[in-house]
Amino acid sequence: MSTDPGPSAPRPDPSMAPKPADADDTHGDLHDVFSALYAGAEWASDAESDDGDDGAAPEPAPEVVSARFSRAQLLRALDDLILPSPSRKRRIFPDPARLPTTTPSTAPLPPLPPASLCAPFSPLPLLARLRTFRQETYSALLPPSLGAQAAALAGWTNAGPDGLACACGARWGVGGLGAIKDARVRVEVVRRLAAGLSARHREGCGWRVAASPGALVGEMRRFAHPLVAASLAPLAQELLRRSLAGPVRPVWSCPVPVEQLDALAAALQAYGADRAEPGAVLPPLDALAAALALFGWYPYDPGFAAAADHVTPGSGTPTDIVACRICQRRVGMWAFQPRDGAAKVFDLQREHVAWCPLRADDWWRECVRLRPLGEVEREGAVDIAALLVSERPAKRWRRARGVRG
Ligand SMILES: [Zn+2]
Ligand SMILES: [Zn+2]
Repeated sequence: MSTDPGPSAPRPDPSMAPKPADADDTHGDLHDVFSALYAGAEWASDAESDDGDDGAAPEPAPEVVSARFSRAQLLRALDDLILPSPSRKRRIFPDPARLPTTTPSTAPLPPLPPASLCAPFSPLPLLARLRTFRQETYSALLPPSLGAQAAALAGWTNAGPDGLACACGARWGVGGLGAIKDARVRVEVVRRLAAGLSARHREGCGWRVAASPGALVGEMRRFAHPLVAASLAPLAQELLRRSLAGPVRPVWSCPVPVEQLDALAAALQAYGADRAEPGAVLPPLDALAAALALFGWYPYDPGFAAAADHVTPGSGTPTDIVACRICQRRVGMWAFQPRDGAAKVFDLQREHVAWCPLRADDWWRECVRLRPLGEVEREGAVDIAALLVSERPAKRWRRARGVRG
């Protein structure tokens, strides 16, 4: 058993194989994990916290009473956590209700949890933290290691100009870098500030134990913006009907080559035609409607702002404002009308807020529908219409873990 319950107690080395024969070792490991998770001394075992005590009699262990499982069941389940038995799979608690893995464009995003929630492996709490980073209060010019994404992955929310805050009570700021003239000094300051993303949480804060993995940003994007025809096709049709019906269209650009956008438009058109009512005529999708949908822009009517994070086919008013339902950036497309030969260009990728995953490079390459239909069919997809764009990496990980465990 470990004799030092403080925060500097040695943590179990994950690379070391467990030693099933030695029960004392396991107990020590568990103790260390508790010390690391709950900051040591307050959570030390009864035996240790009594060390140096004034000799008062130890309190009797509280009796565990539950109508749902017996003490023997609880102990067996705890044993299973340490030495899982391959022949027995039981859970003390039922599976928690799981969120859907994606939200199509026709459904609103689920309500976000509070930004203070410590849930490092969940995409929606990450989005809740990211949304606190506003362009007015958190500079988009900070280096990526201090940017909104890095800070939110480490558990921080934006509070005040270039300020960061956590529910553990820690507050600090990363402003003032622009005043440092010497480039080498600035690099070193940035390095030290970036180390603070983990170290500045208070003792006992869960974010000191586990930060969100970088891959969670992509997972959040796939959750809120699935690259499947079932989501992109209705969105593109609604953009065409509500936002692109006017005579003048915005001048626009995006990183996807136009022949790939044409392939996407054709695939989405075919998907919609397959599912339309008999006799209904869908207006032909073009590259702009397909590109706006691909880059996550939704028709936005200020009068119905609450409903602007999804489309309801066939309803909704015409509007020339589009908005991203992840970063909530709104763009009035009238600003990009060609005037006197010169015009501002609506960059479908770069108009997203700095931390928005739709602004990142190359994520759109995950969309198989950017390739000609014939090419995808040749590769053996049976039901092209229902084809998912990409296997979610998290799934592969779960499968791999299942094989090992
Ligand atoms: Zn904290
Ligand atoms: Zn966005």
